Amino acid sequence: DRARTSGRTRTTCGYCGVGCSLEVLTRDGEIVAVLPDHDGPVNRGHACVKGRFAHGFLHASERLTRPLLRRDGLLTPVSWSEALDHVARGLRAAVAAGGPDAVAAISSARATNEENYLIQKFMRVAVGTNNVDNCSRLCHAPSAAGLTAAFGLSGGTDSLDDVEGADCLLLVGANPVEAHPVVGARLLRRVLHGARLIVADPRTVGLAHHADVHLRSQPGSNVALFNGLAHVMLAEGLVDDDFLRHRVAGLPELTALLAGYGPDRVAALTGVPAGDLLEAARLYGRAERPAIVYGLGVTEHLHGTDGVRALANLAILRGAVGTGHGFGINPLRGQNNVQGASDMGALPDLLPGYAKVTDPAARARAADVWGAPVPDRPGMRIPEMFAAARAGTLQALWIVGEDVCATDPDTVRVTEALETCPLVVCQELFLSETARHADVVLPAAAWLEKDGTFVNFDRRFQRVRPALDPPGDARTDFAAVHALASALGVDLGCRTPAETLAECARMAPLFAGISHERLDREGAVSWPCPDSLRPGEASLYRERFSTSDGLAHLAACPYLPPGETPDDRYPLVLVTGRRWAHYNSGNMTRRTANLQLEGVDLLDLHPADAARYGLGEGDPVTVRSRYGRAVLTAHLSDDMVPGQVFCAFHFPSSGVNTLTSRHADTVTSCPEYKVTAVRLIPG
Ligand code: SF4
Repeated sequence: DRARTSGRTRTTCGYCGVGCSLEVLTRDGEIVAVLPDHDGPVNRGHACVKGRFAHGFLHASERLTRPLLRRDGLLTPVSWSEALDHVARGLRAAVAAGGPDAVAAISSARATNEENYLIQKFMRVAVGTNNVDNCSRLCHAPSAAGLTAAFGLSGGTDSLDDVEGADCLLLVGANPVEAHPVVGARLLRRVLHGARLIVADPRTVGLAHHADVHLRSQPGSNVALFNGLAHVMLAEGLVDDDFLRHRVAGLPELTALLAGYGPDRVAALTGVPAGDLLEAARLYGRAERPAIVYGLGVTEHLHGTDGVRALANLAILRGAVGTGHGFGINPLRGQNNVQGASDMGALPDLLPGYAKVTDPAARARAADVWGAPVPDRPGMRIPEMFAAARAGTLQALWIVGEDVCATDPDTVRVTEALETCPLVVCQELFLSETARHADVVLPAAAWLEKDGTFVNFDRRFQRVRPALDPPGDARTDFAAVHALASALGVDLGCRTPAETLAECARMAPLFAGISHERLDREGAVSWPCPDSLRPGEASLYRERFSTSDGLAHLAACPYLPPGETPDDRYPLVLVTGRRWAHYNSGNMTRRTANLQLEGVDLLDLHPADAARYGLGEGDPVTVRSRYGRAVLTAHLSDDMVPGQVFCAFHFPSSGVNTLTSRHADTVTSCPEYKVTAVRLIPG
């Protein structure tokens, strides 16, 4: 409170997963400036165009300030009690008709850890189902699955500070200069100070201009590429034999598989010249301190989890993980709190701290803390929720801060699901594409109006503090969940965000030593942190891996083709991603001055493809896939290779996600956003 009246609030950025610490200056209920915090543990005085300048949306005239209830087909302003009574009646009716599993919730990175904890507790305790999932399903679910299988924990192995000590960086499927600018700047500085750089990405992303070698593999060919690198490392003895002997399982199986991934075959599968593959493998394999940093270009594939496993193989073969010296393999999480949403158990198969709902001991521990039984059957993942809604078995869907009708793939079918489901409740800042299809819309608070914590991409808990009050009758998700529980006659406990994190810490040994009070004192604490008297572990697996046998596990993953390949009808491959001025569906950033930096969704294409289709810079272009069509603006770029096109999804009116593929990771259901076959039509 003192910080708020003095008009200076220290909080954590609510955009990307870097987790920059910001100083927010306010006067008379308005933000005067947002400054990067010089003591910020991750950003150290830096911030990007989103964190610093994209806050005007807070005062946008379209902010929702009252609950809305659909009456006679129209969303009509009502009181909170009227809205909550309607939702409570709808939830009771849904449970009466189909049991607790007829209700589902989608949580998100926009919610704090404490809000995510409360949402999953509400679903498990108040409704009695494990049907809760979060937006990591659409981005890094394969990282969680792949890294857990390889090493035992669901997070990157090291910290950004450790990565900065690397003498060789392998950057894969990520464009941090635009999507994680503060990380992009720190990696660039490391390269300018002498680290070697290998970039593996179909596009010439920002850092590729500084790379020693750029591996331009075909979208969907990651597993073949990583197997090819591993083949060369094994063949040329660029591995850590002692590490492999004592700390690793699975080498014979991998060695047998890799025999079939010589450079010539890999060149044919990936399009990467054999010479480039050899050079990259030698750079990584001969480095003393090699680090891998990767993004959604690894995970958002039909075989995304295999991609993570095959990439982790490189770090294991080289003995560059679990050494106590950092480096390792580190996913760049896209959204502010997507790591935390999963850490808090907003997942259909996992409780807070990654305890399995199928584990009787974990359920007993949770039941002891919650005073209520925990359902033992894993719940539905997000795509299964939409399928159940379309099939008529899902009776109520509660969506917190996710614009699924703009960001999920194949949005025509997502919208059908929402139209079919008898009750859709949406907590939102604006009347988003999703909120337009809801039966009840609850006005939500934004990240600059919230109290709690986020976990960033390298597992650091940091405090989130309110610089302003939410407008009108808008409420935090924390307050909304409590109000809904009360409407159902359920007391969730956890009166404050601090109490909530304390309860989570009692349940989950990974976070046992973390509290608001400690974060207020220390600024940031990494998990695992099982003890309040010891620091968190920024670099993991010093003594043993967290797998059941204490070993790192290599995986023999054969290359399998992506869900779609170009053909005569759809001859190009579309890859989607982010650009620097906007964030996801743009609900926040489009309502700020950042709109002047990037005002439309562009389609990047190589000049040769532009000539083939008769397109010039700035021309309108219709993109068609097997699922839908989008109208974009052509942007000619030598950063593309012929045959591939790229666009972001920041302007829902362009309809990019009506195009994207129905294929999804075979292990985690993460959509294959990175490979959709399309054709272009001028105009
Ligand atoms: Fe930092 Fe990411 Fe926020 Fe930019 S968007 S200020 S890089 S946390």
